Amino acid sequence: MSYPQPDPAGDEPLAREATALLQSLVRARTVNPPGDEAVVQQALAHHLQQAGFHVQLLEAVPGRPNLIAELGTPDHHHPGEPVDGKILTLLSHVDTVLADAGDWRRDPWGAEVVDGELWGRGAIDMKSQTAAEIAAGVGLARKGWRPRSGLLRIIVCVDEEVGGTLGARWLCEQHPALVRSDYVINEGGGAQLHVGDSRHYSIGVGEKGVCRFAVRARGRAAHASTPGVGDNALLHLVPVLERLRDSELPIDLTDAPRRLLEGLGLLTPERSADDAVLLLRERAPSLAPLIEPMLRVTAVPTMASASSKINVIPASAELRVDCRIPPGMTVDVARERVASLLEGLDVEVEFTETIPGNGSPPSGPVYEAIDAWLGANDPDAGASVPTILPGFTDSRWFRATFPDCQAYGFFPHRHMPLTQTYPLMHAADERIDLRDLHFATRAYRDLIRTLLG
Ligand SMILES: [Zn+2]
Repeated sequence: MSYPQPDPAGDEPLAREATALLQSLVRARTVNPPGDEAVVQQALAHHLQQAGFHVQLLEAVPGRPNLIAELGTPDHHHPGEPVDGKILTLLSHVDTVLADAGDWRRDPWGAEVVDGELWGRGAIDMKSQTAAEIAAGVGLARKGWRPRSGLLRIIVCVDEEVGGTLGARWLCEQHPALVRSDYVINEGGGAQLHVGDSRHYSIGVGEKGVCRFAVRARGRAAHASTPGVGDNALLHLVPVLERLRDSELPIDLTDAPRRLLEGLGLLTPERSADDAVLLLRERAPSLAPLIEPMLRVTAVPTMASASSKINVIPASAELRVDCRIPPGMTVDVARERVASLLEGLDVEVEFTETIPGNGSPPSGPVYEAIDAWLGANDPDAGASVPTILPGFTDSRWFRATFPDCQAYGFFPHRHMPLTQTYPLMHAADERIDLRDLHFATRAYRDLIRTLLG
């Protein structure tokens, strides 16, 4: 597979368009709740329509429309019509988490450009990707490009930040024929990982699941003024907390994490997975906490309850634990890990909420096209590596609804590494290096052509 050499001068109109789009997206407040995405969605719909896309706005509730834009082959096409060839969906969401202007150094909705960085809520998560995907699609459409076969779809969802009930989930469950996709490119990858002297791009291939549980201890109530009379259930949880603090669950390498550690040069035939993790901590101390959750089950106590009165020794106490499991691992394995961690303690464990992880293979046409693009456009970078998100994105609804769908997280950051972008997400001073926005826009333009002809 070969790509034309990057041509910064020829790409300038594309870059300008992506910047302008991102500025207008950031300036529109779409904090969810309540979301208020309608104005943005209508403007994007108009923009895409003008360029030749067929556009539909579909809403689960008034004022929260999802956008589906399609560009078919020259002889094509009506929405919902069978498609000859592969359907490539560029997916994003335009709602954001809130921003407290008092915590920011610049206006979170100002979209100011300072020293080459565009500031504002959504600059990374993920209006930048919406802007880049649309600029890429519109740029091609205006030049008269159409897929040789298949279909290009751009889907912009609402409501992702609170779980997608009115957005991707609703589209997949209620309108599967309109959003069925063979390939999806979404958020959740493309970050740059610096390990020692080498740097690697991530390609997001999966998301961890959750396997949350409660730990309960029993005792005997008494007045708190006479502790020797009762048996304090809360104190029975102390050894549970100590184990959760002190013991790490074992490294459990599924396919993608194994390839991740190998690609980063950490796992070799001579080196064990445990030693590979020690080496990661040594070579990339600030990156390691972001990588390690991909490699194992995590169990983090977050809530506790016991007596409802300050002067009563509790007869029962409960701890809630947010436990997450890598995709490809069965829930039974996670339960075994938890059981062995808490072995011998006088407590009962109840699993309260289980959602398996989800993923796509670290291979196949989209994965390989991304990998090849990176090789051609940043040849000095090390091997690209598959990564897993510790949380969820809208990709999971597509993977669940369309079992053959291959979905990947990819927005390549050439200039800001993950250790810089990660702390800005959902936090103050979110901003993006405009060179990264333009790099990603070119990536989408080229990937569309590679995958659809
Ligand atoms: Zn997001």
